[in-house]
Amino acid sequence: MKIFDISMPIHYHMPVYKNKEEKRPQLKTVQDFRTATAYESRIDMDMHTGTHIDAPLHMINGGDTIDYLDLSKVITPCKVIDLTHLEQQITREDLLGKEIEKGDFILFKTKNSYDEGFNPEFIFLEKSGAKYLAEIQIKGVGIDALGIERSQPNHETHLQLFQAGIVILEGLRLKEVEEGEYFLYAAPLYIKGAEAAPARAILIKE
Ligand SMILES: [Zn+2]
Repeated sequence: MKIFDISMPIHYHMPVYKNKEEKRPQLKTVQDFRTATAYESRIDMDMHTGTHIDAPLHMINGGDTIDYLDLSKVITPCKVIDLTHLEQQITREDLLGKEIEKGDFILFKTKNSYDEGFNPEFIFLEKSGAKYLAEIQIKGVGIDALGIERSQPNHETHLQLFQAGIVILEGLRLKEVEEGEYFLYAAPLYIKGAEAAPARAILIKE
């Protein structure tokens, strides 16, 4: 059995969306051994930091929150699809002919996995690609960027996916992972009422 950690390490200098300073996670030491007998720390960060799952509330007023996520959707067999040849976005055309079936959890490996810092031109799932996945009725989709879309003011990609009940997993690192079938564990933190939550995403190859 081989374990692939496909999560981003969380720290102050990690890539954050649009490199915004206020999105940098702040890890603070509350007490240490100079003054106490135990070490304790706390963190202040955006729910969309690093590897995380978006819940429908992120884009839909009154949508479900992350604590309502059915874990069988994120602890599941999955397929990694290699799209590292793409230069800009993932469209319906790019997905036609790929083995994507109803009920699949699909992870897109793109050239984003090779970026060291935040790249404003990251490869994203364009709305025609999202519509195609919604038509097939997959159960989840993951991407190796901090967002599954960009440059779409009306957020059509998120909406297409949420309206079809598709889970969105963002911020993956897939450089070390080849195209193929795996088992995915990507349970988000159990935070009541949140529109997203960080997850430790792991792939298992038997
Ligand atoms: Zn997000």
